Amino acid sequence: MKLCENVSRLGSETAFQTLAKAQALEAKGIDVVHLEIGEPDFDTPQNICDAAVKAMADGHTGYCNSQGLAELREEIAKDIERTRRIKVNPACVIVTPGAKPVMFYTMLALLEDGDEAIYPDPGFPIYESMIKYTGARPVPVPLREELDFRMDVEELESLITKRTRLIILNSPQNPTGGVLEKDDIRYIAGLVRERDITVLSDEIYHHIIYEGEPYSIAAEPDMPDKTVLIDGFSKSYAMTGWRLGYGVVPKEMVEPVVRLIINSVSCTPPFIQMAGIEALKGPQESVRKMVDEFRARRDLIVKGLNEIPGLSCRLPKGAFYAFPNISKLGMSSQKMADYLLNEAGVAALAGGSFGKCGEDYLRLSYANSQENIKTALERINTAAKRLLK
Ligand code: PLP
Repeated sequence: MKLCENVSRLGSETAFQTLAKAQALEAKGIDVVHLEIGEPDFDTPQNICDAAVKAMADGHTGYCNSQGLAELREEIAKDIERTRRIKVNPACVIVTPGAKPVMFYTMLALLEDGDEAIYPDPGFPIYESMIKYTGARPVPVPLREELDFRMDVEELESLITKRTRLIILNSPQNPTGGVLEKDDIRYIAGLVRERDITVLSDEIYHHIIYEGEPYSIAAEPDMPDKTVLIDGFSKSYAMTGWRLGYGVVPKEMVEPVVRLIINSVSCTPPFIQMAGIEALKGPQESVRKMVDEFRARRDLIVKGLNEIPGLSCRLPKGAFYAFPNISKLGMSSQKMADYLLNEAGVAALAGGSFGKCGEDYLRLSYANSQENIKTALERINTAAKRLLK
């Protein structure tokens, strides 16, 4: 079978591959601490589950509006106004099965051969993969440890050409936990305002921030017409498996993106969307509790990593990932991840799987209990000492 060129250019996400390797070891009776997968280890709050069950029992199980239920789009608009202080027209909200499809649809709608798209390196692997799929040229902008993994906005400016159609921002960031500052965002808005460039602002970790206030580029003047804001329910409400996300898109993009939805998934299941309405309207206590627990785990894991010989780790400002520097251990990040999994029973991801600039690092997700994090730290400590002997 001859597969087409575009598909051969698609990449993948190593988190799922590493999870499979870890599970194969577990099947042989080997104990593994899972720090590879980027999903909250909390249960979806009960009120949200109850709303989905009720919606199914009430018969909301058929096809529905491809753009998303009107009530959910209104609640999303209100939520964004509350959390970002941005006035959002519910007619510009598009509901999708998870946040990922918004990336896919945006790139399919905007990019083609000969275009360029700038994305963070290290960054969520799907950005580069999807840019390549469209035929556009992926242009990485390095995120450096010295800047706490913020983007160097002048370097970003130097990468913009006449062919640049898209700039991808992700703050708080996967895999580094870096957060863009308001001044950075203002500068970037200034760069795109007069150009035919759209910003894809991936704000899926918006609620998971430990210092300061998150700020969206869509809050800058003129930017709602040039920004695709991505968010969803996966991380904030521990709903990864439900597949519920959304985009707020410029008016001109609504119709083509809805057409892409009709051509692919038709709609997002209505009973899932009704659970989303409950998530936004119901009590927010569980979100606050989850973020407090993540903060405690972040402090625990970063302190522990900095006590291990050969490792150093910046304090991430958001998301739930630690990104320690492993360059002193003298192994490639993939070899180190394999070594930790096979010899120490700790599943982690190679920084290099998030881009070339991640090569000296590992990504450790601290979406795991403090007890398991302590066990992982002890195991990494023993493994690192063995390497440095
Ligand atoms: N954006 C980033 C930066 C992510 O890390 C993830 C998931 O890991 C997503 C988007 C995907 O979110 P969803 O599961 O809602 O599709």
